[in-house]
This record gives sequence, structure tokens and C-alpha cells, in this order.
Amino acid sequence: MNDRAARHVVVEGIVQGVGFRPFVHRLAHDHGLAGWVRNTGSGVEALVEGEQEEVDAFLAELVRDPPPLAQITDVRVVTRPASDVQAFTILASAANGGTQPIPADVALCADCRRELYDETDRRYRYPFINCTNCGPRYSIIDALPYDRERTTMRDFTMCAACRNEYEDPASRRFHAEPIACPDCGPRLRIVEHAGPTADHPLARARRLLAEGKIVAVKGIGGYHLACDAYDDHAVERLRAWKERGDKPLAIMVRDECELEHVADVTPAERALLTSPAHPVVLVARRAGGRLSRHINPGVTTIGVMLPYTPLHQLLIDETSGVDVPPSLVMTSANRSAEPMIVDDEAALHELFAIAEAVLVHDRPIATRVDDSVSHLVDGMDAPLRRARGYAPLPLTLPFAVPPLLACGADMKNTFCVATGTGAVLSPYVGDLGQYAVFSQYDLAIERLCSLMGIEPQVVCYDLHPEYWSRRFAQRRFPDLPHLEIQHHHAHVAACMAEHGLSGPVIGVAFDGTGYGEDGHVWGGEFLVAGYASFERAAHFEYVPMYGGEAAIREPWRMALAYLRSAGIAWDEHFAPVRALAVKHRPVFEAQAEGGIAAPLTSSVGRLFDAVAALLDVRQRVSYDAQAAIELEALADPALHAGYDFAVHEGLPRRINVFPAIRGIADDLRRGTPARVIAARFHETIVAIVRRVCLQLRAERGLGDVVLSGGVFQNKTLSHEVAQALSLSGFSVYRPRAIPANDGGIAYGQAAVAAARLKGAR
Ligand code: ZN
Ligand code: ZN
Ligand code: FE
Repeated sequence: MNDRAARHVVVEGIVQGVGFRPFVHRLAHDHGLAGWVRNTGSGVEALVEGEQEEVDAFLAELVRDPPPLAQITDVRVVTRPASDVQAFTILASAANGGTQPIPADVALCADCRRELYDETDRRYRYPFINCTNCGPRYSIIDALPYDRERTTMRDFTMCAACRNEYEDPASRRFHAEPIACPDCGPRLRIVEHAGPTADHPLARARRLLAEGKIVAVKGIGGYHLACDAYDDHAVERLRAWKERGDKPLAIMVRDECELEHVADVTPAERALLTSPAHPVVLVARRAGGRLSRHINPGVTTIGVMLPYTPLHQLLIDETSGVDVPPSLVMTSANRSAEPMIVDDEAALHELFAIAEAVLVHDRPIATRVDDSVSHLVDGMDAPLRRARGYAPLPLTLPFAVPPLLACGADMKNTFCVATGTGAVLSPYVGDLGQYAVFSQYDLAIERLCSLMGIEPQVVCYDLHPEYWSRRFAQRRFPDLPHLEIQHHHAHVAACMAEHGLSGPVIGVAFDGTGYGEDGHVWGGEFLVAGYASFERAAHFEYVPMYGGEAAIREPWRMALAYLRSAGIAWDEHFAPVRALAVKHRPVFEAQAEGGIAAPLTSSVGRLFDAVAALLDVRQRVSYDAQAAIELEALADPALHAGYDFAVHEGLPRRINVFPAIRGIADDLRRGTPARVIAARFHETIVAIVRRVCLQLRAERGLGDVVLSGGVFQNKTLSHEVAQALSLSGFSVYRPRAIPANDGGIAYGQAAVAAARLKGAR
């Protein structure tokens, strides 16, 4: 008894919903230890007792070899007197009020996939198979700690067989909270116009898809609309109903073999596609493939994902008898202005307008979770949208804060809830300017705050006086202290905080639109930035946005503005001039002359639009950044010299790209191919960033550069700018965990607020 030891262990990080307690239980068992383990409000705690050597071995293994999805951030061990307990048990969760990461939904694991196709398994072809390593998490959680009774699985009473597995430490479903089987778990049904039909809902759905029909499918975080991705007619019909213009549709491919048929995928892209989150990844579309041309008109990339739930796996499965399409369009079930439908009643009420059938199940979705979208830049994951599989995303702040809400930006909104140095970035919310999205904003904030057990004591939001997020915060929290944070400062601070930089840095923030401190529309900014404050060191010269917001939808307006600013006449020779109806020209010229209805902008996003219009890539856009994306796709990969530009001295410096516009006009007159002009233009932006950064380094001695803002979603630009700066000896940082677009703004707001609150104390 002398060498008997006891330790109390507290483990923090992502340790709930990832099979951590069963892991601890098994480990204790292996080492002949007694004691207990339980979830707490902030992680997992355990008491282990046994031979000293075994206790030490247990602790070493605990840290060395945790379950695959666990991420341990801290382990604290305290010695306790041995008490001679004999058994090891899993105790009920202790709700002790701390904040803990909220587990994200996880794609079907390899073990469950094997069982799914094992005829002798009792879950053979069961669409809701899951285990401690996979299955729904965030989308079914009502409250924490994470236990079945606080998920939407609470009303499914476990059968004896499931109960045995759930309680058996040797089972890989030991305390798998969503555990289910055909006898006791959720069930599928298919509903068609005439009502519920078919004994075999999946077989029926597959047949309809094979016939070119559209089927609504209830997934993990909401409803999708599915159809055969090879069927032009079906895809066109679906696109028309969604009212989303030319915006590409995501597809789900059956397996990695089908992936090869539709796309050219790098090993890094494949790794991301098969990672536990199974996001949509934008990859190069295979030339000459048979996918419908209506999936991604005008672009060379395609958004693909692999089946991430057993339901999707079975739906797209080829062993079913029916010749089901190997690639399905799998797009969220909503019209463009609305959030994805999650509610069964709404689905059955609204989706028959487009779908022939609705594949529905009876496991309620606690919260909407959209598909995540990523692409790889320089071989690394660069998220475009963080939701399913990642969110809510745990992050760290540079300084501790009181309970705080950062409201984010209005476009691609996410919000951020923080306390101490822990911050959680919400899943993608959407564009708050859309009423249907805005009306769910309040609820989403309330839900995340309540999951985290936080009542905000400070709110922060964008400087923009017209932002819905700002108006919401002012109305909802009238009595709390408010902080206003400039948009591009937030972009830069988000990337700084993600990389743990202390600053000051040169923050290069290029995007479409952000409200500036001078009331103009910023978006081509070089900030010398710390967390608490920034100085606008340089920016692109202002040009007018003819027609204001209309200039965002109609790039030809920006082209006219740039031509005029560059001193070039509006000649019929230029495509954007032809886009302006002749009868409207006098009015337009008078407007331009008088500067009426023309806010000023330094936006690089708008500059890309202008150049795209000059090259006649596009005069009107139907989705965000469409012209810029198409301009990038057009650019010749071979090296070409950039155009001239000038940087005018001053505070701030002003970057004059009008010589480049004149160069483009000359090239157009000369008949230079558009792909060469597009490449020269990219080179020009690279050269501008390099020159301004060199000037700022010479003056201020700054060597760290942060690249952020939606323009850096351009892979070519991001790569070339980073390379040019690195070669000049700069340390370059780009967003990795959060999107470079406005989806990362909320985290930046929280980081800035943290610094300002610290200064205020
Ligand atoms: Zn599994
Ligand atoms: Zn069961
Ligand atoms: Fe932005």
C-alpha cells in the first residue's frame, strides 16, 4: 500500500465530444487504476489512484496519445491522498460555469464506414451510425456540458444493445452521446407531393436523382437541395430557383475516384477534403469533364466535398442497385437572400416549390450550421467560410477581456464572444442586409452566449454608421459600454492575434468596402498597426463610385471612374463605355462632372472590378467579387512586367495607379491579349505593396507584414505578394484559422477591444 498514489487531473482544450472520457476510462483500466472521470464546464477532470508507476505511466500516455480529435491546451495535476477506492467510474458532468470549447460536428469515421457496409453489423446501412470519434455535435447541442440529455437526441431512448455499448468502456461507442441504431435511433422518411411514400426512402431518393429530379435532403446542420451534377437541365432549374445569378454551386462527389474525374486535386487539397471537418474545397475543375456547365459558369474552380454523414454516404452510394449519379449538386436549401432552412415544417412547406421530394429524418437540428468552404493558398488551408466541422471556433486574445461581444461586419457576418483570453468565433451567419438573415442574428448571439455561459458586459462593432450589426448592438445593449472599431484595423488585428504578434506591424488591408475614419470608403490601406490603435500610412488614391452602391454591382461604373481619373476620354473603344447606354451618357457625364452621388473610395476590390470591366471580363456582377475572381482566372501564369504607378509622399502616402490605367488603355488599343494585361495588372499590385512596405520599413524599422481583407482571397495575388515580400526580407503573415474576408472581422474587433480595455484599466 505504500507505493499507492492518487492524482487529480484537470484537462482543458477540445476534450468533450471527442471520446475523451472513454479514453481516460480505458487508459485507467489498462493501468489498473481506480477513480473517476467527468466533464466539467471547462474541460475534463479525473481522479486516478493506484500503483505509483502506473499512475505516472497513465499521465504520460494521457498527454502523448489522446483521441484523434482531441486538442489538449492545458493539463494540471495535483497530488491527493490515496483513499483505496477500487473501481473506475464515469461520473455525471459537473456544471461549474467555466468556458470550454464547444465540440464541432465530425464527418463519418473509417470505423463507422466499415460497419455501415458490414452485412453482419446491426447498424448495416443505418444512416445515423456514429461513434465517439464521429457524428453530430454542435448542431445537436442545446446546452453544455455535452451529454445526451442536453442534445436533441434526448428523446430517443437507448435500446438495451445501445445502452450496453454506451456503458462499456471497451466499446468504441462508450459515452458516444448521439449513439443510435435502427431499433432506437432516428429514422428516415421521404415525402413527395402526395405525402409520405416508399418503404425505402433512400432507394426512392436515389431513383429520383437518377431521373434528373431535385431532392431536398436534411443533413447535419440544415437542408440541402441535391440533383445530378451531370444533368444540365436539373442544374439549370435548381440555379434558377435559388436566384443566385452565376454564383458557383458546391458538389458532393461519391468518393476519391469520382473526385479524380471532376477535378485536378493536389495532395494537400485531398488531405483537407478528407479531414475530420470534410469542408467544401475549391479546386481546379478538370478540363473536358462532363459536369454540367451551369455549376460554375465563368470560373475554372469548383467547390467539392466528400460525403460527410452516413446519410449522404448511402444516398450517393453506387452499391444500391439504382444507377445513382456519382456527383450531386449539394447546395443549401434557400433562395439567395435567405438562410439555409433547418426546420422540418418550413422544409415541407417551402421546398416542394423546387424539389420533387424531401428526405427528412426525426433528429432535430438545434442550430443551423452551413458547410465550411476553404481553398489552399501556397499549400495551406485558407478558409473562406468557417462553419460545419470547425465552428464555433476557439481562439485566443492577446489580452484578457471581461465578457464581451464583438458584432462583426455586415457582409459574411460572424460574431465573436469572449471572456478572459478565450474567444469563440461564431459559425458563418450571412449578410445582415438580408432581412431573413438579420432576423436570426439576435437568436444566434443569444445561443452562443448561453452555451458559453456569458452575459456580455462590453460590446464592440464597426465604425460604419449604417451597419445593421451596429444598430442591433445599440438597440439590444443600450446600457453597456460600446467600442467602435475601424474595419481595416479589425482585419489586420485579427491576423495579428491569430499569429500571436505583438505589433506594430505593417497591415496591408485590401478589400471591397470598409468605412473609413474620414467617412470615405476605404479598401486599399497600409496601416501601421498595433492592437489598440493604428495609423493610416498609405492608401490608394480616391476615385468616385458613380451611383454609389450600384458601382459594386456594375464594374463598368468603376472603369469609367478610373478612365476619367486617369485623364482618358470615354471612348466607344472601351467595353465599359459601350456598357453605358448612349441615351444615358449626357446625364452620366453631367453627374461625373458635378461629382453627384459619388462617394469616394480607395478600394482595391473596386480597382480589380474596374480592370475586369476594361478587359470586358464582366460589366455586371451577380455575386460578391465575381469580376475579380474571373480576372484572376484570366491572368497568364507566365511572368510579365507590371505597369507604372506612383507613390506620392505625405501622411498618408497616396498610391497613384492612373499611370497603370493609361498603360492598360494603351495595351488595349494595341490589341495585347487580355490574359497578358490581367497578369501585368496583378504584377503592378505586387510591386505597389513591395515598394510601400520597403518605404515603411526604411522609415519605421518594421519587418512584420500582415496581409488581410477579401482581396487576398485571390490566390495568385496572395502568393505573389507574400513571395515578393519574403524575398525582400519581411516576415509575412496571412489568416489561416479565420477567413481573410469579413468573416474574420469580429475576432479582430475583439482583439482591438481587448487592447483598448487593457489600456483603460
Ligand atoms: Zn465513427
Ligand atoms: Zn439502439
Ligand atoms: Fe473587409
